[in-house]
Amino acid sequence: SLNREQVVDWLYRCGEVFNQQCDFLTGLDKEIGDADHGLNMRRGFSKVVEKLPSIADKDIGFILKNTGMVLLSNVGGASGPLFGTFFIRAAQSAQAHQSLTLVELYQMMREGADGVINRGKAEPGDKTMCDVWLPVVESLRQSSEQQLTVAQALQTATDVAEAAAHATIPMQARKGRASYLGERSIGHQDPGATSVLFMMQMLTAAAR
Ligand code: ADP
Ligand code: MG
Ligand code: MG
Repeated sequence: SLNREQVVDWLYRCGEVFNQQCDFLTGLDKEIGDADHGLNMRRGFSKVVEKLPSIADKDIGFILKNTGMVLLSNVGGASGPLFGTFFIRAAQSAQAHQSLTLVELYQMMREGADGVINRGKAEPGDKTMCDVWLPVVESLRQSSEQQLTVAQALQTATDVAEAAAHATIPMQARKGRASYLGERSIGHQDPGATSVLFMMQMLTAAAR
């Protein structure tokens, strides 16, 4: 299972990775957006990390809800509300839990991804973060039926996420700022999809 300490470790690791990858993500957004995605994610997760020590003894639902609210209020643009919604919806599923089984983790991630889709209305192939969230959730669903450990399931889901982030390159954007570019959005990896990959890499590292 995935326990509360591992969830907290995940969020600290997100703080580190979005600090390290800030320029890379902003560079991706420079190609097809307004060159702020790395800055947005770094700002958001540095605020999340700032608040972690005071809430790290609460249940997983509380910690994730706080994460979502901090992202909502500190990250502007498209990605702030969408990642905020992901964590707030995931938190409802993890309410009062001190640890999650693989099935519960799958359900939590599915709720979060459904929240992003409800809010952003992206469809598969629109070149958004949903093009990674959806395959990740499907991978976790399959793993949860195969009696894998959480660590094994997350490694598999992260491999899926890596391929899915890469698969956004040939897509034409149909949602968000990148859609204004039309065909010129083809040939670049989506920044938000890449952030989901980083979050999955960090979750896998925290679960080991
Ligand atoms: P902004 O585009 O407002 O500057 P960011 O640069 O932080 O915001 O985030 C851009 C990312 O948000 C995109 O790469 C894409 O993955 C994601 N995104 C944009 N619109 C949507 C949407 N409607 N649904 C899902 N994801 C979206
Ligand atoms: Mg941007
Ligand atoms: Mg912006």
